[in-house]
Amino acid sequence: APAPEDDQAARAWLARHDASFGHFIGGRWQAGGEGESFTVRAPATGEALAQAAQGGAADVDAAVAAARAAQPAWLAAGGARRARHLYALARMVQRHSRLFAVLEALDNGKPIRETRDLDVPLVARHFLHHAGWAQLQESEFGGWAPLGVIGQIVPWNFPLLMLAWKVAPAIALGNCVVLKPAEYTPLTALLFAELASQAGLPGGVLNVVTGDGRTGAALVDHPDVDKIAFTGSTEVGRLIRAATAGSGKSLTLELGGKSPFIVFDDADLDGAVEGVVDAIWFNQGLVCCAGSRLLVQEGVEARFIAKLKRRMATLRVGPSLDKTIDMGAIVDPIQLARIEALVQTGRAEGCDVWQPAQVALPAGGGSYYPPTLVTNVAPASALSQEEIFGPVLTAMSFRTPDEAVALANNTRYGLAASVWSETIGRALDIAPQLACGVVWVNATNLFDASVGFGGYRESGYGREGGREGAYEYLKPIGWGKGALRETA
Ligand code: NAD
Repeated sequence: APAPEDDQAARAWLARHDASFGHFIGGRWQAGGEGESFTVRAPATGEALAQAAQGGAADVDAAVAAARAAQPAWLAAGGARRARHLYALARMVQRHSRLFAVLEALDNGKPIRETRDLDVPLVARHFLHHAGWAQLQESEFGGWAPLGVIGQIVPWNFPLLMLAWKVAPAIALGNCVVLKPAEYTPLTALLFAELASQAGLPGGVLNVVTGDGRTGAALVDHPDVDKIAFTGSTEVGRLIRAATAGSGKSLTLELGGKSPFIVFDDADLDGAVEGVVDAIWFNQGLVCCAGSRLLVQEGVEARFIAKLKRRMATLRVGPSLDKTIDMGAIVDPIQLARIEALVQTGRAEGCDVWQPAQVALPAGGGSYYPPTLVTNVAPASALSQEEIFGPVLTAMSFRTPDEAVALANNTRYGLAASVWSETIGRALDIAPQLACGVVWVNATNLFDASVGFGGYRESGYGREGGREGAYEYLKPIGWGKGALRETA
């Protein structure tokens, strides 16, 4: 087996900061105003990695003021100059890709293979793509102006990638940002802000304030924030919607999901098995668009489930820096307990819960959960309806395409779906009947910066990426004096 990934550079960065972090505001480190902090742990072992500042209202206020002060000059610099900054950020991520990948794997618990081969390259790609929009801003978005100061709140499942999805379009189009990373995983956002500043990003364009939900709420409530862009749970999304109602702030919400993975009897079954592995065991299933509900056509159900079980038995669960693992740790013991409780509910409801005996979980202080398949599950049960947010797949069968569509849409969410059939006409007939933001055909988890991603119903609203995503950070120019000044 190859040696675990070398974590010296990440450890050296932590040591350079005495493993203790303030906020990054106005282009420099600032100690948290209230002196409170929290411990950042490595989910793979439970080890304490660092202390981070618990941002209070005064910290949020300082960050918003820094963003507000920086915004006029950032806008006046023009699209071409902003594009050069975004290209520089992409190059910065590429140059430090190993450091970002290792720090993310340490902080989040996900496999180094994923951070190295997916998260970090996609981050660079997002900045490259949006550099293009910056360059074209005057010609493509001539009648539009940036919103101003954007508050961005992101979850822990893709800490750096969610930063990129939010920060790149916002700053490309002339806004300035206050970003609040999730309390479990603030480290790569702090590293990003520090290196961005070293790469020449003007102070105040990107500010990072760390802390838990209270810090997020302070950002949401701040009167000088023009827009909140949130990715996280539907529950918190609902609180933010209520808190911003009537405030005049723009809002986009990227929330939870319960996405169907539909396998027809004429599908390439081996390909579909690999698709399921990617859909629900990639990132331990901690993916908003995870294909967490398998729907298989009756005639192939038994064969497909047997193949799937054989494949599940080969999955390797282990510490994040082990290059051979397929699944890492669950981000926090609280999330692990939530998964265990939901599966327990399923058992109580009479479902069959299967976990491969061959898959061993690492011993020690980490938070691990095995790949899990739940069958004999009723459409209205908790396991069918609630987002588990973990490596747990429920499976059901259907007879006809109409029944597949009805089962697929039987959810309050609407984020993603995956359809598998060798009859392409059938797949293309089903796709538009699915009430969700993205449908993959004979594929899953494909993301590109040029395609808008987002949901319907309780999966939220607004799009990230693509032209649609750009408009989320712009407003039509009015005829007031202030508006004309903004175009100068
Ligand atoms: P969460 O809602 O608990 O937390 C998300 C962020 O919101 C964190 O930074 C948290 O500190 C902050 N927060 C908590 N309470 C707040 C409040 N009252 N006001 C303002 N901010 C507050 O979600 P999570 O558990 O970190 O993330 C998992 C969820 O995110 C899942 O539901 C998942 O489906 C969703 N998600 C959605 C997408 C998408 O694009 N649709 C992408 C990734 C994750």
